[in-house]
Amino acid sequence: MLEEDIAEILIDEKTLQARIRELGEQISRDYQGKRPILVGVLKGAFMFMADLIRHISIPHEIDFMATSSYGAATESSGIVRILKDLDTPISGRDVLIVEDIIDTGLTLDYLLRILRARNPASIRVCTLLDKRERRRIPIPLDYVGFEIPNKFVVGYGLDFGEIYRNLPYIAVLKPEIYRGNE
Ligand code: 5GP
Repeated sequence: MLEEDIAEILIDEKTLQARIRELGEQISRDYQGKRPILVGVLKGAFMFMADLIRHISIPHEIDFMATSSYGAATESSGIVRILKDLDTPISGRDVLIVEDIIDTGLTLDYLLRILRARNPASIRVCTLLDKRERRRIPIPLDYVGFEIPNKFVVGYGLDFGEIYRNLPYIAVLKPEIYRGNE
């Protein structure tokens, strides 16, 4: 059972959903009269994206990018590979990047540079989780769900070794689970 591997639930389902509703409502207000493209970063942001847009009441489109960072499983290297690019041209469009978590900021910094080069009308970032103390590159975040401490988390789209994405909450695994995979 996956739940046996959990040491601590950091953000429970109810808290998560209440905050996502607020974010959706705020985005709807901020983009009033516009038709933004929400760009979900796969795979981690898939669940957040699905719940977030249910609280967005203005017309919008969605698209996805998939990135993979080289190097160790729980550390970002800053070298990012695009595994799946956008289907939609974004020139002149209002783009809102939807991320699961910002850790060092290296992945998002790279992504922002790629997307800015395509001349969108605007580009903003919405992340569910912000591990601010780990930041190595300053990144302007427009919408943040929760600031979290420097712990490796799983659940609600986030994985460890591709498992635990289905958990409806954000959790920390027991230390022996991480150790077993190092
Ligand atoms: P960054 O480039 O900001 O260091 O890392 C961003 C990516 O690293 C996230 O999109 C996510 O895929 C992964 N990541 C960073 N911290 C965590 C974490 O605590 N748990 C999980 N599952 N992935 C993380």
